[in-house]
Amino acid sequence: MEYRIALLKGDGIGPEITDSAVQVLEQTADRFGHRFVFTPYLIGGAAIDAVGEPLPDETVQGCLNSDSVLLGAVGGPKWDGLPGDQRPEKALLGIRAALGLYTNLRPAKLFPALKGASPLRDDLTAQGFDILIVRELTGGIYFGDRGYREGKYGEEAFDTECYSVMEIERIGKAAFEAAMPRNRRLVSVDKANVLETSRLWRSTMHRLAADYPEVQYSDLFVDNAAMQLVRDPRQFDVIVTSNMFGDILSDEASQLTGSIGMLASASLGDTTRGLYEPIHGSAPDIAGKDLANPVAAILSGAMMLRYAFGLSAEADAIEQAVDTVLERGCRTADLVGDSGIRPLSCTEMTAEVVRCIASQ
Ligand code: NAD
Repeated sequence: MEYRIALLKGDGIGPEITDSAVQVLEQTADRFGHRFVFTPYLIGGAAIDAVGEPLPDETVQGCLNSDSVLLGAVGGPKWDGLPGDQRPEKALLGIRAALGLYTNLRPAKLFPALKGASPLRDDLTAQGFDILIVRELTGGIYFGDRGYREGKYGEEAFDTECYSVMEIERIGKAAFEAAMPRNRRLVSVDKANVLETSRLWRSTMHRLAADYPEVQYSDLFVDNAAMQLVRDPRQFDVIVTSNMFGDILSDEASQLTGSIGMLASASLGDTTRGLYEPIHGSAPDIAGKDLANPVAAILSGAMMLRYAFGLSAEADAIEQAVDTVLERGCRTADLVGDSGIRPLSCTEMTAEVVRCIASQ
């Protein structure tokens, strides 16, 4: 079967790591008898340099006409002086809005082979952990009314949080569906003891829970969730939460895995298309030096196979290959710490994963 993939390489290490993901996807296609057709489009600083804007129409149209979208990263010091609405990062919000992506899936997985990289105690990390955070991406306080006004103490600023039943239902359904093929445990995180939006969030989630009796559902206040994540992350399978709480908790969870270069993400909407990208940025400090860890981009490719194309066995093959090369001791520079291991380059790490898929 043939799948068309829009490739948004972006800036900094973006081109290096997306090239790695493409090599791994092509090897996977070979093994399983598929064809992935990659079409590159400009985004971010590269697009500003070439055509004067971070998100050209051609890029948006190209993504809309593709079966899925794979993104590297955007941004860098070269464009930091530009006004906010002309900066490379503006393209991220633009492409998410254009593709209607309201669900952000962020796995925080600690590979047992990398447990030494986690800041947590050994007994908490010995078996690794695997959490999926489902974050609402297009509503809540980041998109509510805001401004300045005269208040009781003079000038004040305000932001407002607003969630409709429809927005909560659609993210809730995405979370229950995501929990089904996993361990079927879902925790909804809110602040229902204080916030009206959280009370609506909670009652809506409870209604949905009745439709998914197979999923063990529970609620947690966000302050407790932040604490439980560091106390024992093994207790979590899937977490669903609002835009701002998800922003904060997913960064906290990612740090528990100790390595930003390992973590993938998916942004999904009502179609199967979605946008798949590493959670890290363009890492200008190591760009062009063949030092980047390609695993986050490679695992983003695996998420794309699973969620956009329904190719679970193929996604498993990639994830298994990453597990295997880590178990064998392959490490990029960000993962070696003071272990004395010789780090592999981005090119070498990619070749190891490709070889592993070929020999599975
Ligand atoms: P960053 O994630 O790019 O880098 C933070 C640190 O992690 C750096 O030391 C970097 O070298 C390291 N790092 C990141 N990815 C790595 C990888 N794959 N392998 C090895 N090391 C890696 O964050 P930053 O420095 O805050 O931002 C740099 C630029 O990226 C900024 O312009 C920022 O706006 C942009 N950014 C883009 C995205 C995106 O495109 N989705 C996300 C975050 C930041």
